[in-house]
Amino acid sequence: MKTVHLHPKREFSLLRRHPWVFSGAIAQTDGTPGKGETVRVLSSDGTMLGVGAYSPESQIRIRMWSFEERDIGPAFIEERLAAAIGGRAVFLGEGLTDAYRLVNAEADGLPGLVVDRYGDWLVCQFTTAGAEAWKDDIVASLSSLSPCRGIYERSDLDARVYECLPPATGVLAGKDPPDRIGITEHGCRYWVDVREGHKTGFYLDQRDNRALLKRFSNGCDVLNAFSYTGGFGIAALTAGAASVTHVDMSEPALALAKENTALNTCHLEQSEFINGNVFEVLRKFRDAGRSFDLVVLDPPKFADSKGGLAKAARGYKDINLLGMKLLRPGGLLATFSCSGLMAPEMFQKVVSDAAVDAKRDLQIVKRLQQSEDHPEGLCFAEGLYLKGMLCRLS
Ligand code: SAH
Repeated sequence: MKTVHLHPKREFSLLRRHPWVFSGAIAQTDGTPGKGETVRVLSSDGTMLGVGAYSPESQIRIRMWSFEERDIGPAFIEERLAAAIGGRAVFLGEGLTDAYRLVNAEADGLPGLVVDRYGDWLVCQFTTAGAEAWKDDIVASLSSLSPCRGIYERSDLDARVYECLPPATGVLAGKDPPDRIGITEHGCRYWVDVREGHKTGFYLDQRDNRALLKRFSNGCDVLNAFSYTGGFGIAALTAGAASVTHVDMSEPALALAKENTALNTCHLEQSEFINGNVFEVLRKFRDAGRSFDLVVLDPPKFADSKGGLAKAARGYKDINLLGMKLLRPGGLLATFSCSGLMAPEMFQKVVSDAAVDAKRDLQIVKRLQQSEDHPEGLCFAEGLYLKGMLCRLS
């Protein structure tokens, strides 16, 4: 195994069990490790810090597999997968959903690997050189640990560019999944397009929050901004919402939102589907004097880099300000940010800035985050990317 020596004082994050080694922390590498090759990491005084996957092109040069000297091979991969999958049994056991995340990358000790289950199918994303290097073993272990009809790959994310990995999609094992997979989540049914849909097909990370909002939806007029395939709005309708207005700029997402509405036998006349830019549509609603009892703001990631945070903050503030102005007295705002770079405190600051400008008083009813099947490593703060607040207008 090749060895990587760190600069003095650059071992601290590893000693804190944070799994990333940045290129600038590396003093010397014995030999030239290939893409995804396992390397041993030593501090400047020669202390063994663990073993990780080397990624020659990435700023994040090593992602740790273990903070101990371990043999990284098919048995190790299978052990980690079994632990991750075992921890999810509760999701099936309680019959809450048949779609959930089986493996959540760093939090499950498998950096760069995401595996989601949709009914009888698994969908994988391999984001890093390390995960890519063990793809065949991962697929073989998944087939035995989590029996399914087929395993489909959706490694078409931008993050692969940083690893110099080309996009890859297609069947990895078993059968080709159908164009649409039907899932059930907290009693709601949704069609999922695992080939063309966002992420692996569905925003599983919002499951707990969709379920929460059902408790507050009865009789409400709901604005579901950034609706994607209808998630929050359809959950609200099944819980007795009076009407739902979905807004999204993706025509295919809205088409599926319509079908999902019908699938749940929600009356289409209670639903409005607006294909447009939320920033513009909400302004028009404000100018037209429209109002809602529940406003959901679940935008895509606005910040890709630290340099983009200020612009992202302006975007979040803008939509939150508009959302607040559309709320009836006593109404609820469920507002989210999935930008990992935006810390929860910063997000709260931005939303409170919006309240100041809107001259509205709101209280935080509940702080929200990604669903339980998307755990966050305790020593890996980057793992908490989705945060939100349920706020009530006085
Ligand atoms: N709440 C959804 C997930 C939302 S994902 C769920 O629970 O399933 C974000 C969505 O915002 C995507 O569908 C994307 O098409 C849409 N989107 C991104 N920018 C937009 C904009 N400016 N206006 C309208 N929709 C936008």
